[in-house]
Amino acid sequence: MLVRGVVFYFDSGLPTEAKFLLEDFRLAVNNAIRAGLQARVTSRNALVKIGYKDFRGQHPRMYAKHLVSAFEVACGILKNHRRRVRKGVTGRIPFVKRMMMRTENQAYKLDRKAGIIDLPIRAGCHVKLRLVVSNYHRKYLDDMSLSLGSLTVLSDRVIVAFRKEAPKPYVPDSVISLDTNERSLDGVFIEGYAAKAVKADFPEIAIIQQRHHDRRKRLQRKKAYDRRTSQSLCRREGAREHNRIDYRLHEVANSVLKFAEERRSAIVLEDLKGFKSKRSKELNRRLSIWPRRKLHQIIEYKAQWKGIPVVKVDPRNSSRTCPICGRMQHSRMGAEFKCACGWHLDRHINASINLLQTAISKGMAGGLRFDPGAFQHDAMMTLYAPSRGARSEPNGTSGVVGVT
Ligand SMILES: [Zn+2]
Repeated sequence: MLVRGVVFYFDSGLPTEAKFLLEDFRLAVNNAIRAGLQARVTSRNALVKIGYKDFRGQHPRMYAKHLVSAFEVACGILKNHRRRVRKGVTGRIPFVKRMMMRTENQAYKLDRKAGIIDLPIRAGCHVKLRLVVSNYHRKYLDDMSLSLGSLTVLSDRVIVAFRKEAPKPYVPDSVISLDTNERSLDGVFIEGYAAKAVKADFPEIAIIQQRHHDRRKRLQRKKAYDRRTSQSLCRREGAREHNRIDYRLHEVANSVLKFAEERRSAIVLEDLKGFKSKRSKELNRRLSIWPRRKLHQIIEYKAQWKGIPVVKVDPRNSSRTCPICGRMQHSRMGAEFKCACGWHLDRHINASINLLQTAISKGMAGGLRFDPGAFQHDAMMTLYAPSRGARSEPNGTSGVVGVT
């Protein structure tokens, strides 16, 4: 089952009764967290067993389903907390600061035509939440193949989870293999006998990262005498950086996926899991890996939603190997990969060919093959470019299709 959370803002403010509910819910979650920590339990059932009676007493009028879901939220927070304690990241007792509540799909009603949520507060008391509905929201509301999941209510917005059965990925007619770099995705697109270079450029992401990094450094220096202010300012910087980068990553992912969907391509990516960033002074100069990981996450997740096949392969040696003769280079080379056998190509695109060949050798590319003789060096297809925010058709003399 795939789930996508969609944010809706309120058309008019949150009714007072709902505000009380949010506040009660928050308290109930925090109480449950305490009770769970004291009794050393984390499973929801165990939590309900030790806490439900007391809670019923403390919140006598709360809708029972909301109360149970408060335990569920607490349970999720406790799990995270335990993981962080195990890693030694934190010792602090977690609590929910923001007014919030979450409830399951049996406990609320959504009028999908009118965009109104009916939320029960307690017996005989329901509130109606009017939502702002845009075209984007319509896509989800009108698609009846999507069922409703949980509802999260915050003081200014709600998040509705839409669910659907994961569609079966199609059998690909073509394949895009992409090497992920700090400023771009570079790769090859293979369809029939033709192989063309493709590129999605996102230089801004590295620039934003660098700028925020510098700004954080400056803040730390300036507020060295006041750690608390420094920390909170840095955190705010971090959140802003995150939002700005996130937005761009989604655009890049959408362009790539649109291209793949139109041509019924499979997408080959490197598996970044093993990639460890070094914890040292070097971090000051190198950009962090997270935007690249995040980009992969977005691509994989959206591809799943649309039924586009994605293949992840081990990138080991992909940037050092010649895809034609298999020779491996020892020293790091420049922008161009050159081999003793005569093969030469842009370093990143070369790496993507190696990723593709790994996928092919494992039978993961749906029977498609790469033929180096058909590689069109002069045809570059742009999947994404920030200036236009859109992709273009191949440039130059792309009409010539190489046939072996
Ligand atoms: Zn070679």
